[in-house]
Amino acid sequence: MPYKKINQPRSLVTGGAGFLGSHLCARLLKEKNDVICLDNFYTGQKRNISDFITNPYFELVRHDVTFPYYVEVDRIFNLACPASPPHYQSDPVQTTKTSVHGAINMLGLAKRTGSVILQASTSEVYGDPAVHPQVESYWGNVNPIGPRSCYDEGKRCAETLFFDYYRQHNVKIKVVRIFNTYGPNMHPNDGRVVSNFIMQALQNKDITVYGSGLQTRSFCYVDDLIDAFLLASESPPDFTGPVNIGNPSEFTMLELAEKIISLTGSSSKIIYMPLPLDDPKQRKPDITIAKEKLKWEPKTALEDGLKETIAYFRKFMEA
Ligand code: NAD
Ligand code: UDP
Repeated sequence: MPYKKINQPRSLVTGGAGFLGSHLCARLLKEKNDVICLDNFYTGQKRNISDFITNPYFELVRHDVTFPYYVEVDRIFNLACPASPPHYQSDPVQTTKTSVHGAINMLGLAKRTGSVILQASTSEVYGDPAVHPQVESYWGNVNPIGPRSCYDEGKRCAETLFFDYYRQHNVKIKVVRIFNTYGPNMHPNDGRVVSNFIMQALQNKDITVYGSGLQTRSFCYVDDLIDAFLLASESPPDFTGPVNIGNPSEFTMLELAEKIISLTGSSSKIIYMPLPLDDPKQRKPDITIAKEKLKWEPKTALEDGLKETIAYFRKFMEA
């Protein structure tokens, strides 16, 4: 029987077993993509992808992006990299290698296969921003030698590589700067603020607010972010980004703690702990470019997204 080419688009998701990657795999499978999920399980969880294992269009590969990977694909979503400060700081050399060598390997793959490649960049490229809200044209305020630098500078160097592969080799790049995103499938011991506060509240333990709690973040629900990933990957070839993706509603960490205590009905008390070094004081995306170029804006209010996330962690604790 002659070989018949499968017409489903083939998408590679690096970091596919992580929080965002697992939601992306789910959406791509729903949209009839052939999905290769590549992960070294540094922070990823098998339970995030266990529902897909029997799907004939899903393939799981244990691989580290710091080593080359050869495959034939149409689209690459480069998400591999620990995202939580305690995790990316626990092996900072590997974090930089993952961002930089990972970008080189995946860009080389995109160059050879002619694939579109999306980079999961971050609001951390702005560091502790002196411009508020953050616009894409702002170059940032980043400490190059601090504890967050392995992540911030690794992601900045990855952006440099993306734009050089675009200019030098015409690679079809899409650079997306993600602002704090939360939702089901976050690791319960991830160390990021939303998962920490919810897990603490559900166990009636103290809520650990770092510093004064007056620092701000803007939280995007994961479903909104995945919409933006797909829109960006399907955007016209002349659209490279960088584009901010996040929810511009800004909250202090104290407001977040109070909201989570109230939504969980917890008896937890707020306690104050030292502020980590170089912790950004404020963060809020300007999403004008996303609105104009991708026709995207977030739809989920913090309270609604938190209710979904709390329900997920409740189930997790019962399992
Ligand atoms: P996550 O830690 O849940 O997922 C990262 C995944 O990458 C994990 O499955 C991990 O095992 C895998 N990974 C790490 N190093 C790897 C390597 N060398 N080779 C192969 N796989 C590797 O984090 P997340 O929140 O899902 O973040 C996904 C991406 O989005 C990251 O690149 C992160 O920098 C970016 N991002 C996330 C946020 C957010 O708020 N969630 C914000 C900004 C940027
Ligand atoms: N934070 C906190 N308590 C925690 C975890 C984090 O007050 O248990 C604060 C942290 O200092 C930062 C904000 O919450 O100001 C967001 O932290 P996260 O680690 O989620 O991500 P970041 O945006 O700093 O990368």
